[in-house]
Amino acid sequence: MPDNQSRDALSLFTHDKTSGKTAGTLTADGEKKAIAYWIKCLEIIKDNVSPHIFNTWFEPIKALRWENKQLTVKVPSQFFCEWIEDQYYSLLQKTISQVLGEDAKLLYQIVVDESDSKVDKRTIKLPAFKFPPQPSNIGIVDGTSDRKTFTTNLNPKYTFNNFVRGESNQLAYAAGLAISQDPGKTRYNPLVVYGDVGLGKTHLVQGIGNKILQNYKKSRVLYTTSERFTQDFINAIQNNTQNEFINFYRSIDTLIVDDIQFFCGKEKTTDNFFHTFNALYQDRKQIILTSDRPPRDLKDLDERLISRYQWGLIVDIQQPDLEMRMAILQKKSVDEGIELPVEIVEYIAKYVTNSIRELEGTLISLIAKYTFENKPLNLALAKEVVNGITKKEPKPVTIDDIKELVSNYYKMPVESLESQSRKHEIALARQMAIYLTKQFTQLSLKSIGAGFSNRDHSTILHSCQTIENYLVTDPSVKAAYEHLHKTLKSK
Ligand code: ADP
Ligand code: MG
Repeated sequence: MPDNQSRDALSLFTHDKTSGKTAGTLTADGEKKAIAYWIKCLEIIKDNVSPHIFNTWFEPIKALRWENKQLTVKVPSQFFCEWIEDQYYSLLQKTISQVLGEDAKLLYQIVVDESDSKVDKRTIKLPAFKFPPQPSNIGIVDGTSDRKTFTTNLNPKYTFNNFVRGESNQLAYAAGLAISQDPGKTRYNPLVVYGDVGLGKTHLVQGIGNKILQNYKKSRVLYTTSERFTQDFINAIQNNTQNEFINFYRSIDTLIVDDIQFFCGKEKTTDNFFHTFNALYQDRKQIILTSDRPPRDLKDLDERLISRYQWGLIVDIQQPDLEMRMAILQKKSVDEGIELPVEIVEYIAKYVTNSIRELEGTLISLIAKYTFENKPLNLALAKEVVNGITKKEPKPVTIDDIKELVSNYYKMPVESLESQSRKHEIALARQMAIYLTKQFTQLSLKSIGAGFSNRDHSTILHSCQTIENYLVTDPSVKAAYEHLHKTLKSK
């Protein structure tokens, strides 16, 4: 997502108001070549991704022109182009150099809502590969650690400002905020953030790094991954520059190492990392690490390291709940300049539940279809996109789901809900199940009655009324209802 910083950066690029003014024949020729080259690129890409990915992300891209060894293509949004760069960087890079040659470049031109005539038809040129993998740090910094040439590897698009907070990441965020105010000096050293893929670990730890730089301009913050650390170490051995390697890493004020699970099994690298860790820790420098699993499950990782992690804070990021998924969609769509109707936000948040990355993918695909294919922004479009992304038909909640949930909650067999018993707990659970069935399914009163031992429709209405009364008068029933309601909503 573009944050303020990258939006500012964008304005440095020229707004493309000149594209149509180039001499006719040259433009036509450049356009033909562009199309031919792009078709070749697409052929390669098609062989390397699934048909679904191809249709969603590559088919919408149109070739515009070829000039000065630069192929300009049209993409539907800034977000779309960042997503492609994030996810398919190496595939694009390989393809471009194979088809167009090593020194060729890909330029994106972003179309700002073509369908809206009031909007200035601005396009923005972005050089492709905005955040190319940095060359090894070792070569960049000499022994004197010249600040001017120091590369943090931080991506400015990951900030605290565009990090949505919720229950699932509250603690990790709070620790990150504290660290950014006083790196190395809080109890959270090291900070280890773990959690499943796509839940925001990289975003958060880079956000901390960016915030530290804002607060302490001269601080040396380095973001790296365990893989890059390993590669640097191997290079140092090969080039006989171990001392530089050691000096460089020990000159860092805040060291962020992403995805430490890849250290597992690499004995020599871990040993080296252990010494780097100790040296930094003793100097009260900040260390921030991420992993896709809790440190105790990092098999084959040096026991000494695992015990070091206990010195600070180990915190997980969990799956976002429904409300948070909605908040993320809302924030990201507003950042994209699109106001999503709330029913679309609810729909996507309800069915795209695996990760925030998947949520983002759905949103980008939706915006692409809306701007590029001129489809109306409605529930049908959301359904189309969600089905494509999750590849599963969203399943509506059924009466059986509700019976099972309620009977588990009240710790009684499903049969009790269907029985004629008038015992208070059983009657209450049954009324709750009936009330939820009325809310969550499209069933008529008659069909609901049929699902509860053929009760008639006035009994069903009475049950609903009873629960509604309890919701006002009885906090424990209200709490039960809220819990069950939330569970069904996030199903
Ligand atoms: P991980 O490192 O855990 O695999 P990432 O940090 O790469 O996950 O997050 C995946 C995507 O989701 C990124 O584009 C990131 O910006 C976005 N994202 C994750 N968490 C949040 C959040 N809390 N608020 C906003 N965007 C988020
Ligand atoms: Mg990550």
